Amino acid sequence: MVSYRSVALTTLLATLQPRSMFAFTPVASSAARRTALLRGASSIYSISSTARFMSTTDTAEEEKAAPTVIPNPEAYEKLKMEELVSLCKRRGFIFPSSEIYNGMAGFYDYGPLGAELKKNIKDAWWKHFVHGREDVEGLDSSIIHNPTTWKSSGHLDGFSDPMVDCKETKLRFRADQLFYAPVVLKESGERVGYVLVQEANDEDMMKDAKKQAKKLLKGTDNKGAEIEAFAFRDLTEATEEEMSEIPSPASGKPTLTMPRDFNLMFQTNVGAMSDEASVAYLRPETAQGIFINFKNAMGTSRAKIPFGIAQIGKAFRNEITPRNFIFRSREFEQMEVEYFIPPGDDVWEPFHKQWMEDSKDFLTSLGLREDLMGWDVHEGDGLAHYARACTDITFRFPFGVQELMGIAARGNFDLTQHSEGSGKNLDYFCDATKEKYIPHCIEPSLGVDRLFLALICSAYAEDEVGGEKRNYLSFSPKIAPVKVSVLPLLKNKEPLVKAARELYDKLRKRWNVSWDATGAIGRRYRRADEVGTPFCVTIDFDTIEKDGSVTVRDRDTTEQIRIPMEEVIPYLSKQIDGY
Ligand code: ATP
Repeated sequence: MVSYRSVALTTLLATLQPRSMFAFTPVASSAARRTALLRGASSIYSISSTARFMSTTDTAEEEKAAPTVIPNPEAYEKLKMEELVSLCKRRGFIFPSSEIYNGMAGFYDYGPLGAELKKNIKDAWWKHFVHGREDVEGLDSSIIHNPTTWKSSGHLDGFSDPMVDCKETKLRFRADQLFYAPVVLKESGERVGYVLVQEANDEDMMKDAKKQAKKLLKGTDNKGAEIEAFAFRDLTEATEEEMSEIPSPASGKPTLTMPRDFNLMFQTNVGAMSDEASVAYLRPETAQGIFINFKNAMGTSRAKIPFGIAQIGKAFRNEITPRNFIFRSREFEQMEVEYFIPPGDDVWEPFHKQWMEDSKDFLTSLGLREDLMGWDVHEGDGLAHYARACTDITFRFPFGVQELMGIAARGNFDLTQHSEGSGKNLDYFCDATKEKYIPHCIEPSLGVDRLFLALICSAYAEDEVGGEKRNYLSFSPKIAPVKVSVLPLLKNKEPLVKAARELYDKLRKRWNVSWDATGAIGRRYRRADEVGTPFCVTIDFDTIEKDGSVTVRDRDTTEQIRIPMEEVIPYLSKQIDGY
């Protein structure tokens, strides 16, 4: 089966509606996902359940104590994707992969600051969902599984996207990311041709469609004629007759093939022989590694349902058109939980709701801007036949509103499939009810790289300090790649440097801290702001000659306070870690 996504269409249609429809209220959408369409059947067990949510520890309290990020909405509205990509490269967050060999489409390398930010995101997730809960344990499975895994899970037969080829230019496109509309004259109702636009932000898609329509009208002697509003549909819905008139985005002529399925799994060979028997796949998601370890992980942790297994790791998808920077790449990381629950029609819903809330709370606790987030409820075609529900948390990136993460109630499809495929019993025995069942599960699934991008977008800020424009990243201290920058007022005054160095050595036992001794203090502050360092500590003559106090400067407010040297660590701990 294929994935026919209509997120972009939803986005495009939303140009006519206020943005608030994407706020944290349910947005009904017919968006379908490839994962939602994997084949399979679920058998529904019906026992009543006394399942309750497990309590979290006081991590939540710690998170609340962290300072809030100051967003700068105006700056983000003007931000273009090219600027963001260039900023990420300039400041050492993300580089094109193997750039010295002209790069590799769909692959990226994370630079010194990017590696730190990514690690902080993963650590925060692990702390929140694994260490912070009594009912979730971690796992780290291999990337390559026995290939039967993918047969059972349905990926071998169904993990595909619809693809079209341009016969003239030989370029490939994802059919569900292309939108076509007839150009119909208002006066006569005559159709003079079609426009076809690629998925982008609303404004750019509309601009492109209008430009194409103008050209079409000119070429058909209808220059300046009024036309009906565009009725966009994604290319997977085009008939052969329509396709014979729809222009290719590459050639501008009707040279596209009809859509066909393209499996997204990367294939490799294991061992010395490259024959059929050695074929294996790089995992396209981390979730299946959890399902195939269900018995092992449950048994060794002596867990009782409801219980979750969490995993962070690389996933690989041979995306037809990797686009929008790290939003859709061919190698990425996922953070997933399979939260196993008892079966029953009335059981899953409160768990699903709770995971939606917990996911939202986690994201906002990292400083993700709530005003850019929304819900996208899958319904109808967008929902797999075995799934009870699936809701995405969306984010408004510069290229439009897109899925950031999904929270699915998947029934017991996966464990049932693996039990059948392996011939192994994957039942759970409930001590309390003395019943055996294959557990159902809730699956919150979040991409590290997508969250990384959303966090950079949320942190992007501009203001004016001392009459000068300032460009900075207002990361929450919790995820900021560098937490503190230590600055000796002068680099050639030995006692100053010595005192600063001592503090620096102490601080870096706890956090990632930078040392900056060159240039005017103002310039050094600006350098720290640019990479999102929340605090600068300056050691000056008062520190060594007078009262032993230091200056601590806050990145967002630029306010400076004077505190005794021995209070620096307790003060920063409160600001950074929340305790
Ligand atoms: P999309 O519809 O955008 O392709 P999906 O619905 O196929 O995404 P899932 O299979 O549900 O995505 O994967 C879970 C999460 O993994 C996504 O919400 C996203 O955060 C991340 N993800 C999926 N594909 C990619 C990719 N190609 N690049 C980066 N992150 C990805």
